[in-house]
Amino acid sequence: MLRPSRTLPADGPVLDLLAPRVADVGMAVARLLPSARRRAIGPWVFVDHFGPVSTEAPIEVPPHPHTGLSTVTWLFEGSGFHRDSLGSAQALRVGEVAWMTAGHGIAHSEVMPAGRLHGVQLWVALPPDQRDRPPSFEHHADLPAFAVPGAEGTVFAGSLGGVTAPVTTHTPLVGADLRIEGEAVFPTDPTWEHGLLGVEGQVTVDGPVPSGHLAYLGVGRPWVRIRGSGRVILLGGPPYPEPLLLWWNFVVGDASALERARSDWDAHSPRFGPVAHPGPASRLEAPPLPR
Ligand code: MN
Repeated sequence: MLRPSRTLPADGPVLDLLAPRVADVGMAVARLLPSARRRAIGPWVFVDHFGPVSTEAPIEVPPHPHTGLSTVTWLFEGSGFHRDSLGSAQALRVGEVAWMTAGHGIAHSEVMPAGRLHGVQLWVALPPDQRDRPPSFEHHADLPAFAVPGAEGTVFAGSLGGVTAPVTTHTPLVGADLRIEGEAVFPTDPTWEHGLLGVEGQVTVDGPVPSGHLAYLGVGRPWVRIRGSGRVILLGGPPYPEPLLLWWNFVVGDASALERARSDWDAHSPRFGPVAHPGPASRLEAPPLPR
């Protein structure tokens, strides 16, 4: 049976560059988390970076389930359309956040039209006492933009330097899209872990953070100083408080909860519910559980 992964934080500031690996989600994407060396950065447990590409056909992710986490797709270019088993049907544009909290269970689908596409898909593990909360979905088109010396940006989840996103989250965290030009210093909580995804250009934090790489910055930083010219995603939060069990699309508390989530999806249980996804009926089937 699958063993939970320890997600121990570093005991101080570090610069550990996590290289992308190719994953297939209906298109080739660069997966940064989970990685062999690191399972999480604070509550952030999944980071996929897709594009920039020009696609010739729509990208379709058919209905599939989630438990125990929140998902967010954050676009730099392109657009998407989200549908879920709560009845949500929501267009997603650049600069908007669609925040889906699975809790005990939800199913959803996503479609990205043909054309330019560039963005990230991120997951946040719910804290243990919120893992089985009712599912919910929020969309926000009006997010706080800010400018400081050397940078401008948008906070799309949690708080950074007193700028707070209107998204309902169940654990302290930060998710921010930053454009750096020169040198910028961001106040951070030294008890939190932080990470920086290089999106475009050339920036350094202690050392270079190449585009397409995820720098794990450890804990113990009262500020994060970023230099250079480029675009980055800053992620952070308190280290996850217990060993993390993430398998396929599920964050769960133990192996029996994982087996139950998988068999409930197999059995078309109302726990996940139908998604009004257009076109031929299709759904993603769960892979076999590891032995
Ligand atoms: Mn999903």
